[in-house]
Amino acid sequence: MLPKAFYEAADIIEKLEKHGYKAYFVGGCVRDLLLDRPIGDIDIATSAKPGTVQKLFQTVIPVGIEHGTVIVRHNRKSYEVTTFRLDGAYSDRRRPDTVHFTQTIEQDLMRRDFTINALAMNIKGEITDPFAGKRDLEHEMIRTVGDGFDRFHEDPLRIIRALRFSSQLGFQIEANTLQNMTKVAHEIEHLAIERIVDELAKLFAGSYIKTGIYYLKYTKLHHHIPVLKDDPSVIDRLPVKLVPLYSLGEVIAMFHYIEPDIDISTWTKNWKCANRTKHEAMNLSAALFYFQNNGLNQWLVYRLDDANYNGFVRLAKLFFTDVPTIQDINRIKKSLPIRTRSELALNGYDIKAMFPSMKEGPWIRDLLQTVEKKVVNGTLANNKSALKEWIKWNPPDIN
Ligand code: ATP
Ligand code: MG
Repeated sequence: MLPKAFYEAADIIEKLEKHGYKAYFVGGCVRDLLLDRPIGDIDIATSAKPGTVQKLFQTVIPVGIEHGTVIVRHNRKSYEVTTFRLDGAYSDRRRPDTVHFTQTIEQDLMRRDFTINALAMNIKGEITDPFAGKRDLEHEMIRTVGDGFDRFHEDPLRIIRALRFSSQLGFQIEANTLQNMTKVAHEIEHLAIERIVDELAKLFAGSYIKTGIYYLKYTKLHHHIPVLKDDPSVIDRLPVKLVPLYSLGEVIAMFHYIEPDIDISTWTKNWKCANRTKHEAMNLSAALFYFQNNGLNQWLVYRLDDANYNGFVRLAKLFFTDVPTIQDINRIKKSLPIRTRSELALNGYDIKAMFPSMKEGPWIRDLLQTVEKKVVNGTLANNKSALKEWIKWNPPDIN
């Protein structure tokens, strides 16, 4: 019997079959089903051409139609439905130049990266496995489909994918595959950085991150990854207690803590990260450095974004022995006199008005932050007259 996640997707396959086409579940979802792991996306491969798929289903998003992929929406979920294809060369290192549609699932499986990903399953649960992927799943082995040297040369992203699968699954990389990864490693320099970084994020989030890092060091792949290649020793200095990190922001905060000479913006710019990632990395690394000097207190919790509590605890465990728990952080959070600067009983205009003869400048912001810090740590009450009084006794330097 098929697990629940496959039921709804089975409707799509049944419809394609009813119209005389072949269709299978394919790739990662079959692998994860056989491994009894949580199923991610369900992908479908079919003999129907993209135009036909578009006509057969009501709601479709033709994302990669020239490569044969149509996203079919069904019961509010998305499924990638891709026509059986054989890939041509990958001269731009992003996508194959030419795509030839084919008629058999076996040919489609030939273009896939690893034997464990070259599995297909029909709706009866029968598996098509031309490259002994099931055997490799049992032996916990990552092995390329066909000659590793050619396959890695054709798309060097597969080298990082092998590392990330070793990190996610804890599998070994088969000896020849590993040798070929090492030989072709330098070719990842031609890849679009976004593709590299997507796979790196999955690598660092893998349950078997130490296995992934072992192979990263073995292949020296980091000597060809932007920023890391300028100081590959960052990888040698990863903490012994390394654990999976669930976001790129955490990974970058960790690197910056290991090597403060490389700015966060150097990572985020070269890795073309979203602003959200940059913000997360900055917030987390500020908390780490502050914790190193002051330990956990109100000011740290006040400045740490709620969404980063778990990330902060994960990172703190890597570098420190006496680490706060989420409960510690939440307890402090509840006791904070104010949550944001907008709750402060005094603002920049109030300060300016107290010193009408002084020119506007950074002193206002600095003074506001001093007062804010005192309110947060409880040494000043959050009311306007108390704050003004304190400022009168501690006026800004006038020079
Ligand atoms: P995840 O659970 O992370 O989604 P996945 O195996 O589904 O893992 P995807 O990146 O979603 O990985 O790719 C789906 C399938 O497409 C893979 O299982 C593999 O068969 C094939 N594939 C993906 N990228 C490549 C590639 N660069 N070269 C060859 N085949 C690939
Ligand atoms: Mg997938």
